[in-house]
This record gives sequence, C-alpha cells and structure tokens, in this order.
Amino acid sequence: MKDYGKMTLSQLKIDLKSRGAKISGRKRELVERLEAYDRNSNFNTQPEEVNKEYEMILPSSSNYKDVNKDTEFPVITYNDVRFYLQPLGKQLDIESVKNLYDQRFLKYFRSYKDSDSYFVRSECKAEMRKNMSYHVDVKIGFNDGIKECQCECAVGLGPTAHCKHVSTVLYACCQFLENQFIQTEETCTQQLQTFHQSKPYYHTITSCVPISRILMMADSRHV
Ligand SMILES: [Zn+2]
Repeated sequence: MKDYGKMTLSQLKIDLKSRGAKISGRKRELVERLEAYDRNSNFNTQPEEVNKEYEMILPSSSNYKDVNKDTEFPVITYNDVRFYLQPLGKQLDIESVKNLYDQRFLKYFRSYKDSDSYFVRSECKAEMRKNMSYHVDVKIGFNDGIKECQCECAVGLGPTAHCKHVSTVLYACCQFLENQFIQTEETCTQQLQTFHQSKPYYHTITSCVPISRILMMADSRHV
C-alpha cells in the first residue's frame, strides 16, 4: 500500500479527486479514505476526466423503437458485415454468433432513422457472467453500409468495435433482411406471455359427461 502519510494534503486531494472521492477533511481522514478506496478498487467510481474514451454520437434513447416487420430498416447482408470486419482483422464467425442469437443473448433490438443514418441499439448478455450485459450501438449509412460500432465490453471501444457482441447484433441485422423478424429475449418473453394468457372457456359444467354415462356408453358398445 502506498504511504499516503508522507504526501501533502493537496497531493492527497488531487489523488482523491481523480477517483471521484470526497476531498473534504483533515489529513488523516484523507489518508484513511484513500486506503479504503485502494482496498475496495475505488468503489467502482469512475475517475474524473482521465483518458476520455471514444463515444459514438447517438440520438436520444427515447427515439429508438423496437424493430418489427413494419420498421424501415437498412439492407445489411453478410457481405456488408464481412466488409466491416475485414479491415479490423476479424472474420465473421457465423456459427458462434448464430449460436448466441438463437439462444436469445440479445435482450432487445431497437432502431432509429435520422437524416442520413440508421442507428441500432441492442443489449447482449455476457456469456461467462450472469447479470452482466453490454449495450451495443451500430450506425449504418443510407448508402455506405456499417459506419460505426461500439460495445461496453472490455474490447468493444468504438468506433470500430468488433467483439462478438457487435457481431451478434450485425448478424441480427442480416436476419431481419431474411425473416423480417429479430428474435430477442424480449420477443421470447412476449410470446410466453401470450401463451400463458388464459383462453376463454367455452364449455360449461353441464356439458361435462358424467362418468356413469361414459361407462353406460362403453357397456352398450359391448353388447
Ligand atoms: Zn462487446
């Protein structure tokens, strides 16, 4: 552990500020706070203004709508996906992304069209960690194919993210062209809800045939 006791108050404050921690208090409090932050991996707070990462410029999330057969959606083919991945040194591993897609790793799939691009937003579940999922953004030009992608995973930094989450979302875009439909965890849940809805019950109790009558009918057949 770093010897914070030897640092000046202003040095300690700079250190705390960079971790997004409170900077008020006397030296001992500041030292103890820094030590606590060290022990707890900075409590997952984001350091302030440290190496700002690339972020795509996106429309407001309230503009996005779930994609369905009536959605105006760009034509994206497997070749477009390969064309995007190739310069990044990545092949489209269809088997692997098809597997994630078929297992409904995509939680939802939404899009928005602005003046010169389509935006796709999805969320892909992590394979190894339950309760973890990554937002994926894709920008598709009207005439120039896939322009930008980003993902929240460790290797998903935009604008040229090419992790398997991005690939799965791009695969889903291709699926829409083929099926006018994208399967997600949400569509699965919606189908389940429909399935579980109680159906109107047309039979009344009086239409039930008493067991004695069935036995009589069976008997009469054997006569
Ligand atoms: Zn990713």
